[in-house]
Amino acid sequence: MKFIFTSFLVFISPFLGAQNLCLTAEKTLERIATNESYRIEMQRLDSLSMSFKEGRISSESRDVKQYNIPVVVHVLYEYEENNISPEQIHAQIDALNRDFNWEQSDKDKIPGIWQGIGKESGFRFHLADKDPNGDFTTGITRTKTSIKGIGSTDFYYNKQRGGINPWPLPHYVNIWVCALEGNLLGFSYLPSNSVEPNDGIVIDPRAFGSIGTAQSPYNLGRTLVHEMGHYFGLRHPWGNEEGSCTDSDYMNDTPWQREANFGCKNFPTISCSSEPDGDMFVNFMDYSNDSCSLLFTKDQVNFMQLIIRTSKVTLLHSPAITGMGEESINSRIAIYPNPSSGVFQADFFEDNSTPFEVKDALGRTVQSGIIESGNKIDLTRFDDGMYFLVSSFGVQKLMLKKG
Ligand code: ZN
Ligand code: CA
Repeated sequence: MKFIFTSFLVFISPFLGAQNLCLTAEKTLERIATNESYRIEMQRLDSLSMSFKEGRISSESRDVKQYNIPVVVHVLYEYEENNISPEQIHAQIDALNRDFNWEQSDKDKIPGIWQGIGKESGFRFHLADKDPNGDFTTGITRTKTSIKGIGSTDFYYNKQRGGINPWPLPHYVNIWVCALEGNLLGFSYLPSNSVEPNDGIVIDPRAFGSIGTAQSPYNLGRTLVHEMGHYFGLRHPWGNEEGSCTDSDYMNDTPWQREANFGCKNFPTISCSSEPDGDMFVNFMDYSNDSCSLLFTKDQVNFMQLIIRTSKVTLLHSPAITGMGEESINSRIAIYPNPSSGVFQADFFEDNSTPFEVKDALGRTVQSGIIESGNKIDLTRFDDGMYFLVSSFGVQKLMLKKG
């Protein structure tokens, strides 16, 4: 059976077996079957991918640019246990930023032949600090639901039916953390201009972040790294047609691969006559355990950069993140030391004073008043963690670490 995104004839795979961890390809086919404009969008993505593969589009950026990407995490839980902590969410965002920037500390586990194949993307993910109304947010929403396995239903993105509506797609990457049925870990929608409320990423809490509900072997935050790869246009290494050796992921620097690899494979693992090196089972877009899921290739990074500069470019013009440090805020206010063990010094670059609030990781106001340049903000009596200084200068993240 041949799956082609551009085909009018769409077959739904009968092989949604126990070993399917990611439902992106199936979700894509499902949406193509019912949505003509999405079908056209996927056709466009296919031809863009083909032009990239054939070298007709140069996507290599001249310098390492920082792409700041706003994220909102919608926690949707039936049981309190899945109402995951801010720390678990922050750990997941850290994992994304690590793996998208070639900062993995476990790179030594990559087989020698591929040690040099990765590349820093410059993608920096930030929890949004402005909600769609322009008000302060922690970048996390929390909703209790009574629907079992809501991530496997069409309700997760629908407030009326027990889910939570997405925030505007042009300005936020929406991530729903909610229960999925079976051993499915997650799915994402591929990039398009066909705006639908289900667009975004769904992850099961068992595979989200590295602490709390995250369970081995999917507890290094790499399910979201994989799904974020799809979100920026990457396919599985076997293409859409698992079991063949004829369908491409459009990346020239990933070898042909017959089917998904699970667990932790030994090098080399040969399929599709790919001797001597075999499958790149350490690729984030394969299904290996998190501990053996280790890299994006240069082509994959270049392609994602192409997508962020084209169909996802509105994310880079989002008003949703103001507290990033090096931009607007730091040109008007300096907070130091940060992290601090309790007392933060606030210096303004212009003579000024401003009302301020300090909010905790759950968005609750824990302190407020007026600050002037040279004042100190004392958080000594609070617990360690992330806080937000909200003032007319925007939002500044404060890290409190007493130890
Ligand atoms: Zn996938
Ligand atoms: Ca390839």
